Amino acid sequence: MSITQNKVVSIHYNVVDADSEESIDSSDGRDPMVYLHGARNIIPGLEQALEGKAAGDAFDVTVAAVDAYGEHSDDRVQKVPREAFAEISEVYPGLKVTAQTDMGPIELLVTEVADDEVTVDANHPLAGRNLKFSVRVEDVRDASEEEVAHGHVHGPGGQEH
Ligand code: ZN
Repeated sequence: MSITQNKVVSIHYNVVDADSEESIDSSDGRDPMVYLHGARNIIPGLEQALEGKAAGDAFDVTVAAVDAYGEHSDDRVQKVPREAFAEISEVYPGLKVTAQTDMGPIELLVTEVADDEVTVDANHPLAGRNLKFSVRVEDVRDASEEEVAHGHVHGPGGQEH
């Protein structure tokens, strides 16, 4: 069975920064990652590379930032008044905070702290990075009607509800 729209796919993967070779993430020692193909559960460049593959296939693919977590955008880096952090006892570079916005909660990374201003970065932590994946396809199955309707996988490795 090959990977097409609405297949549930299990993969093992290892991902490094394509430029620096820095290790970023791996499913080694964990259960495989399970996703619904064609439902944008995973980054577009990786999903595209998996199209047509079958269980047992192993391959490497380099995904440009634009097809991974997007380019780093300076528009998403903002200075906010220190008062906005009044409820947080210690504010320091590297601190991650969740901000409520009109579009739902977003993760912000504090990058700079001055007396009256705090710089926060709303880019995805992997924005702007080209990623190199080594992938092994473990399993491919048909999705249930319910999984297709929900746009995600149920059962092991998927949503519990
Ligand atoms: Zn569901």
